[in-house]
Amino acid sequence: MRADNRIEIRPSLLQKLHRIHRQITDLSGQIERCPRQIKAGEHMVTEGSKAKEAAQGNHKDAVLACDAKQLQLRSREDKIKDLDAKLKTAASNREFSLLKEQIAADKQANEVLSDEILEGLEYIDELAAVVQAASEELERLEKEQADRVTEMEQREAELRSELDRVTEELRSTEKDIPSGALDDYRRITEARGEEALAPVDEDSCGGCYQILTTQLIDRLRMSLLIRCPNCNAFLYSPENRQLG
Ligand SMILES: [Zn+2]
Repeated sequence: MRADNRIEIRPSLLQKLHRIHRQITDLSGQIERCPRQIKAGEHMVTEGSKAKEAAQGNHKDAVLACDAKQLQLRSREDKIKDLDAKLKTAASNREFSLLKEQIAADKQANEVLSDEILEGLEYIDELAAVVQAASEELERLEKEQADRVTEMEQREAELRSELDRVTEELRSTEKDIPSGALDDYRRITEARGEEALAPVDEDSCGGCYQILTTQLIDRLRMSLLIRCPNCNAFLYSPENRQLG
């Protein structure tokens, strides 16, 4: 657009176009966030599921370790019974006292093992509580996620229909753009969306803060189309605001 191009354009039209472009940016951003929130929720469910599996694994390991100790305890008790039987048929005092010593040692070992088994059972109870808590947490996360998916899908549908409505409003508003400005408008809005337009703030571009010449401000006051010499945005005077 050359400087001697004198395209008249109503500030209210540019204000409205900018407002619609901002709405479109906002709605598009909100629409993008819907699937992202669903994905974040899926991640939380996956983490909850991993936590439950880990808790179940710990519980299972503890049960197996305790079972092994109980097996060991029973087999040593059987051995003690055998030794007791042998006591009665001991051929000598020496054999008798060796058997006695062996029985005492095995009994002592079993006492230690019994204590360990009791501790193991307590530990299993604790781990079972952890599994229970992890299961409840996973259930909560899954329910929350199901609700989230429903809510986000509904929200996305609402936002899309709102976006359709606003896009339609944009199309009909764009019909008022003077034909001489239309190509530039298309090019810059396609490239930059809402940043294609900017209000003038005091004496500078509201988009990039470039200070504007009084000549440009004068043209703006005459409702002539001006572009920011720095960021190329279509400039307009903000609502309810007298310039200069
Ligand atoms: Zn600018």
